[in-house]
Amino acid sequence: MYGSTQITPPGYWQIQVHYTMSVRLDTAQHTLSGSQKLSVHNTSPDTLRELYYHLYFNAFQPGSAMDVRSRTLPDPDRRVGSRIQGLKPNEQGFQRILSIQQERSPINDFQVEGTVLHVPLIKPILPGQKTSIDLQFEAQIPVQIRRTGRHNAEGIDFSMTQWYPKLAVYDENGWNTDPYVAREFYGNYGTFEVTLNVPANQVVAATGVLMNPSEVGHGYSSSSSPKKGWLTWKFKAEQVHDFAWACDPDYRHDTLRVPGGPLLRFFYQTDSTLANWQALKPYCRQLFENMSEQFGPYPYPVFNFVQGGDGGMEYPMLTLITARGSLNGLVSVSFHEAIHNWFYGLFGFDEGKYPWMDEGFTQYATEYMMHAILKDEHPRKSLIATYKMLLAMPNRQPLSTHADWYSSNRAYSLSSYIGGAAFLEHLTYIIGPERMKAFWNRFYGDWKLKHPKPDDLIRAAEQVSQMELDWFHREFIFSTHTIDYAVDTVFQAEGKARIKLSNKGSFPMPVRLRITKKDGSALNLMIPLDVQRVKTNPNQSHTSLSNLGPFKAWPWVEPTYLIDLPFNVESIRSVEIDPDGYTADVQLENNVKMLP
Ligand SMILES: [Zn+2]
Repeated sequence: MYGSTQITPPGYWQIQVHYTMSVRLDTAQHTLSGSQKLSVHNTSPDTLRELYYHLYFNAFQPGSAMDVRSRTLPDPDRRVGSRIQGLKPNEQGFQRILSIQQERSPINDFQVEGTVLHVPLIKPILPGQKTSIDLQFEAQIPVQIRRTGRHNAEGIDFSMTQWYPKLAVYDENGWNTDPYVAREFYGNYGTFEVTLNVPANQVVAATGVLMNPSEVGHGYSSSSSPKKGWLTWKFKAEQVHDFAWACDPDYRHDTLRVPGGPLLRFFYQTDSTLANWQALKPYCRQLFENMSEQFGPYPYPVFNFVQGGDGGMEYPMLTLITARGSLNGLVSVSFHEAIHNWFYGLFGFDEGKYPWMDEGFTQYATEYMMHAILKDEHPRKSLIATYKMLLAMPNRQPLSTHADWYSSNRAYSLSSYIGGAAFLEHLTYIIGPERMKAFWNRFYGDWKLKHPKPDDLIRAAEQVSQMELDWFHREFIFSTHTIDYAVDTVFQAEGKARIKLSNKGSFPMPVRLRITKKDGSALNLMIPLDVQRVKTNPNQSHTSLSNLGPFKAWPWVEPTYLIDLPFNVESIRSVEIDPDGYTADVQLENNVKMLP
């Protein structure tokens, strides 16, 4: 929550930023000009002698990394394709730096390389110190191509994202200076105070809280809105890592309060999509209630659902979505992008390096929320089936691949969206569904409004489960191994039923087993994997098994495992591995044994 004390992991730091920007939008020339004052607080243990910024608009020029990559991938994004190559000069995007000063001393030897600006500092920033950088810039807003731009397909005038010179993140890996090739973003947390000067007829939606509603009207206050001249809009957002906005003269703007939560704002055109927007609103309120309950409270005062952009894209406190299509499509894209305000927004993942955390966890929560709120089918079965399509791809790349470096868009999508969601299903299988709530609580408590890495996520799961999980992280994310367990035989031995299981795959796992007896009763038991180092008996709750004690762990190097049960084999109807279908076991035929 705002201002609440946090349990900071020992030794953790993150650079703090404060942007104060003032820009003027020329709607006729589709240009932006303005100033930016950036205060950088160096909380790192290192002396900073240089800064890096992203100039994302420069991607929308022929020959840019985004253009070349889009033309050379086997399955380019339809929204980009070869369009950048064909842009006329007045359709391209650019951000031009006019001047840079550090505490009033001009810096003249800055350099722009594509979408990255390098700024050598005059005065190094020592650990614990602050500096301020003043920058004058102008920009041409490209025709809508990818996420940003003017005049989108649904007639929204300006979708203003990745629109300002944005400081790259400095973290324990140093500067993160990924060029803008396709996806996605990583930003420093801080405060944004943004003054937008736009023609008075434009209705503005933006990250943050409007500080001068009575001067503006346009649905932010009951004041009437001037229709002529220029209007100044002042927004402020705290503890966010980006700032996006959009404007259009035809926006309808209405609101809905989430009980005990944020004010939801909706900005849309009153064309054919009106009925869908009206129907969408109560679903969104329910979404914020459910998400806050399940994954931790939404910490910001407002959230904006805004028609714009080229599909759906997440920004702090705001999403841009295209709205034509079915109600179900509008609801699911609105859910997905709003849920990103957890998995990206308040857990500040590096979306380029860890797309499986960002898109994957968002996808996972979206499907479960669609199930809970719209009664869509339970997602696990189709999720695991789709994940197995990825496992079957030739030359599969591991989930540790950078989002831009997948060899096809299909590989990226399956790996990130479905792979990350499947990761959580497998984690649930290992630590148990009853521990997942505690896991998210722990992760939220330690990592909200910070930049958690995969190791931090694994650590939170270890802490709530008291299991070692490094092996799972390694196998799922860094390898292309696959799971295949089998029930070999079920037979009578030494007066008991004996089951022989085997591991035929390359990815070892603990084994959840269901033994269904002929009298209709079922036993669910768990055989731990040795490297999990399970300290408690995972089968404690089964009184009928208590005389067996905990099952001995299955060593990961061992291909087979025997289990004895205190009843005759004749009483067993079936033995099944992973009966609830959490894992992507590549041969399901051998998972179950039916007895005569
Ligand atoms: Zn997404």
